[in-house]
Amino acid sequence: MNILVVGGGGREHALVWKIAKSDLVKKIYCAPGNAGTASIAENVAIDAENIEALAEFAIEKEINLTVVGPEAPLAKGIVDLFESKGLKAFGASQKAAQLESSKMFAKNIMEQYNIPTARGKSFTDIEKARLYVKQLGAPLVVKADGLAAGKGVFVCSSEDEANEALTSLMTEGIFGDAGAVVVVEECLVGEEASFIALTDGKTVLPLPTSQDHKRIFDNDQGPNTGGMGAYSPAPVLDFMLRRRAMDEVMIPAVKGMAAEGIPFKGVLYAGLMIHNDKIKVLEFNVRLGDPETQPILMRLKSDLVPLMEACVDGTLHKFKTEIDPRSTMCVVMAAGGYPGSYEKGSVIDGLDSAAALSDTVVFHAGTAVKDGSVVTSGGRVLGVTSLGDTVKDAMDKAYEACEKISWQGAFYRKDIGARAIARLSVPPKVGVIM
Ligand code: AMP
Repeated sequence: MNILVVGGGGREHALVWKIAKSDLVKKIYCAPGNAGTASIAENVAIDAENIEALAEFAIEKEINLTVVGPEAPLAKGIVDLFESKGLKAFGASQKAAQLESSKMFAKNIMEQYNIPTARGKSFTDIEKARLYVKQLGAPLVVKADGLAAGKGVFVCSSEDEANEALTSLMTEGIFGDAGAVVVVEECLVGEEASFIALTDGKTVLPLPTSQDHKRIFDNDQGPNTGGMGAYSPAPVLDFMLRRRAMDEVMIPAVKGMAAEGIPFKGVLYAGLMIHNDKIKVLEFNVRLGDPETQPILMRLKSDLVPLMEACVDGTLHKFKTEIDPRSTMCVVMAAGGYPGSYEKGSVIDGLDSAAALSDTVVFHAGTAVKDGSVVTSGGRVLGVTSLGDTVKDAMDKAYEACEKISWQGAFYRKDIGARAIARLSVPPKVGVIM
């Protein structure tokens, strides 16, 4: 098969790395890719959002399956466009992608199909939104309805802060149309985890659980980022809670979308808040998480290619997944200044000696090749990912690899995995953690 992977981050390097292990695959292209994907696949200089050019490329190169990494091309309708041209693309249709591209849509689906989530309402009128802020009281959360590159959520400790967020979104329009509608909801407390599954619109096949680390600094301090590290499994989602996440969230969401006449195919990602054995949905995404994909795919023993094809073809009921019971951990190495402004073009040293360590893969995110050297080209630069018998073992290996890599201004969190280690000192109540 010829495969095209769309995107150029750490998630896409992990996808290319996993797809390359499949016996079914002859050639892999990645658009636009990064220095890491270039070592396995052929990078193509087409932007991930230029869906017409991607379709032309897929026809020209006789691509058998296109795998879409990020949400933006899905929300633009890449899967619908490819289907209309007789091309197979793995991912959600434009209408189904509304589960991520419109928080109001997602909230309505959750309400309609009794999926547990924070109490909240959507508004197009700022005065009505302000009244609801008063009614709910602080702390509360204000969210832009549309895609805002992960920056559209304001967790507010006072009503004043919430009102400021409403002004920025609805009056000043800091995210343009994405903030014309807002969701105001109660603030949930607890521990977050990512529950990600493959689906063909009927069958839901869960992938291993994981936990992201969104804040920039250790101990979850500082501003939110795209994600500074992740590990799998997430011990907070024990056997019982995983079962309930399937029964209360994933299956009702897929059934609900089908009942709405919007079959959901591809990757369904539920960002969950867990507190006192209660699960609530913070958000749905319609694609794999980044950096969760890196540790998840390192544990997936099954060939990913037939699984993705089965999602497109509606035959997922014929498949199971085989998961490595060991733990994996990804530490994101970032450029100095991220998530604010940062420099690009610094030469990265030590990649080979880190990659030579056993059970470790250095996934690239914001990297490029310049004059024969690998240089930084983004805020999140690398996802150093290791496999270990325990989460502590995976952690030690990943940090050993990070220490071998350097560039001007490089930094990373030192506490990825610490929460899992603390939790695992108490054995799970029932069953194994996946
Ligand atoms: P979202 O894009 O909706 O997942 O929001 C991004 C992040 O904001 C989440 O990972 C949470 O850390 C936080 N967040 C979102 N909604 C809530 C909520 N209702 N209560 C507390 N934190 C939230």
